[in-house]
Amino acid sequence: MVDGAVADVLAEKNSEIALIPRVKVLLPLPAGDGYDYAVPDGMELVPGDFVTVPLGPRQVTGVVWLDASDPSVPDTKLKAVLKRFDVAPLPRKLLEFADWVARYYMVRRGTILRMILRGEQGLADVRGKTGYRKVPLPLPEGLRLTAKREAVLAAAGEQPLTAKDLAAKAGVTEGVVRGLADAGALVPVMFDPDPAFVPPDPERPGRELSQDQAAGADALSRLVEEGRGTALIDGVTGSGKTEVYLEAAAAALRADPSAQVLVMLPEIALTLPFLKRLEERFGAPPAHWHSDVSSAQRRRVWKRVLDGSCRLVVGARSALFLPWQNLKLIVVDEEHDPAYKQQDSILYHARDMAVAMGARQGFPVVLASATPSLETVLNVEDGRYSRVKLKSRFGPAVLPDIRVLDMREDGPDSGRWLAGPAVSAINEVLAANKQALLYLNRRGYAPVTICRRCGERMTAPDSDTWLVEHKYTNRLVCHQTGFSMPKPDKCPHCGGIDTLAGCGPGVERVAEEAKERWPEAAVEIFSSDTVESPGAAKSLLKRMTEGEIDILVATQAAAKGHNFPALTLVVGVDADLGLSGGDLRAAERTYQVLSQVSGRAGRAADKGRVLLQSYQPGHAVAAALASGSRDDFLAAELFSREELGMPPFGRLAGVILSAKEEPKLMADARALAQVVPQADGLEVWGPAPAPFYRLRGVYRQRFLVKGTKRSNLQAFIQDWLGAVKPSNAVRRVVDIDPYNFL
Ligand code: ADP
Repeated sequence: MVDGAVADVLAEKNSEIALIPRVKVLLPLPAGDGYDYAVPDGMELVPGDFVTVPLGPRQVTGVVWLDASDPSVPDTKLKAVLKRFDVAPLPRKLLEFADWVARYYMVRRGTILRMILRGEQGLADVRGKTGYRKVPLPLPEGLRLTAKREAVLAAAGEQPLTAKDLAAKAGVTEGVVRGLADAGALVPVMFDPDPAFVPPDPERPGRELSQDQAAGADALSRLVEEGRGTALIDGVTGSGKTEVYLEAAAAALRADPSAQVLVMLPEIALTLPFLKRLEERFGAPPAHWHSDVSSAQRRRVWKRVLDGSCRLVVGARSALFLPWQNLKLIVVDEEHDPAYKQQDSILYHARDMAVAMGARQGFPVVLASATPSLETVLNVEDGRYSRVKLKSRFGPAVLPDIRVLDMREDGPDSGRWLAGPAVSAINEVLAANKQALLYLNRRGYAPVTICRRCGERMTAPDSDTWLVEHKYTNRLVCHQTGFSMPKPDKCPHCGGIDTLAGCGPGVERVAEEAKERWPEAAVEIFSSDTVESPGAAKSLLKRMTEGEIDILVATQAAAKGHNFPALTLVVGVDADLGLSGGDLRAAERTYQVLSQVSGRAGRAADKGRVLLQSYQPGHAVAAALASGSRDDFLAAELFSREELGMPPFGRLAGVILSAKEEPKLMADARALAQVVPQADGLEVWGPAPAPFYRLRGVYRQRFLVKGTKRSNLQAFIQDWLGAVKPSNAVRRVVDIDPYNFL
């Protein structure tokens, strides 16, 4: 006999044993690895579904993941899924890819999911928003008209706008809009604030292709047909690589009515003229995605990529992690660009991940560059990638003549930065009403600020980084930490008045010289300091394109992707810059950027000229540029990398330890140094202080792990770091395939 109370207890126990349906939900967090949640009655969930779940006191959006749930968690401990979003689930292959990326870069899967959820607002159910349209005339009788009301009526059109947007357009408050609607002078309508994108039309004829271009387009279309493989479009600047890969995009869109295509560019090259070009080709503006898009645009693109209706996206590296339903082709333009490697938070390389994604999900990837990375060149040589070659510029344009100026012989007077032959060349260009670009990849006025009396070198507080003088704002700025301060009148060290002086040139100083030499000329500066917003950049590029600027002094910001028809002269003010320092890619990068910037000259009918000012005119980079022997340069670089077992022949990973307390940092570094495991073909160098040892009061030590191509770096590092429990005070970051050694 059991009494009632005992029966109740037994019933409760039984319900604990009777497993309730549960799922593993991954959350976009850097901690944890997904949690089990109960599936409430009547809710059906599949992997990839977006859900809201409780997490402590919070509610968090996550995704039902692929893993089996953990049976050791008792039912009683489970919390239930609160909500399933009524949208398409993420495809299984995308979940698998996110898992793979997390393993590759040795980060928590939640951090990859966080990137995927960057447009999460697109999950919100905005089935209808009220917008306001203008009324057909005449306006309602007796309507009281004020200046503000008239502004709203002038701003209202056929396309509905929300009260907020319409008010912003008219420069009034929302109350004015609502007042007009109440008076019947605006028509309220329900509308979708995230309208679908007009689908690209792959059947529209593209431009007529040159023979080389047509052969390239055919080869890529075959790749699309086969549905796999990576190809490089290797073509000089201005050879028309874009037209060729647009044919591949057309082929992919044509082959499958739900196919999606991503064209990736370094953020800085994602310009309006580029978007216009795609619009011309496909008859509809492509969606675009980068760090500066408005939140409304972000929400719309994300939502429409997820529901599959957005089929063509042009984006910066983070576009790789959009919620793709049916991605069938990725194009990585300027594939060599270091901007594809994200340098903070998750240290991923978007080109490498694009190639990996294509290989794992079964679609082709097209890389394009005039100066391909050594990684890609080796992959082509080894037959892993195919190559499409475009040998000459499209149309009448020809490649510019490149000459190296020996600054040891022709160097400028002290305090000046332009050598005699460069000055004469600029004179000629100005006389012919053409434009010159003076390239120097150094922001600000002077890279180092020193006291002429005591020799004090100005550094950022608690950091080992130099302060760069910016005359434009009259501040000293640290380019590593972002710290800035007004330029002091006195040396903080010796108190000397007006003794602080800038050493060496930045773009502002070169512009100062240009203005002095050519007072009649329109001189402007293009750097991230002088061109702070996308709007300002657009306006400057427009002025340059339309010939309103005579001399543009620019950092790397102007090196990419622009077409300035009247630009016939490029001067590399300091062509050696970038060659020094211990970076293994120093020569490769210097070659790439000088070659890109040279490629801005003579893109129309007039032949261009390039003068590279160098104190090391015999250096392989300068020599290769002057003689146009890129392939010899690449071969020599490959040879030396192979000798040293460096990438792309070997593999590297950085392990960066950082802490505010130096003793704890050193203790962790020493402890790790003592337990480096033995493994064939793997070496660990360090610890060594990072070149910027102290940044914002944080000290940093680095290890470098070097392995062969076949080494499993990740497993090795996991074992190694696992052997020493990290102190809470020390942060460890692993950088797989590092591009930054600072
Ligand atoms: P790349 O990307 O190789 O530097 P682009 O694709 O930007 O070169 O092409 C260089 C210039 O040549 C652009 O102004 C482009 O409009 C033009 N161009 C390229 N191919 C064609 C073509 N088939 N027909 C007409 N113009 C073309």
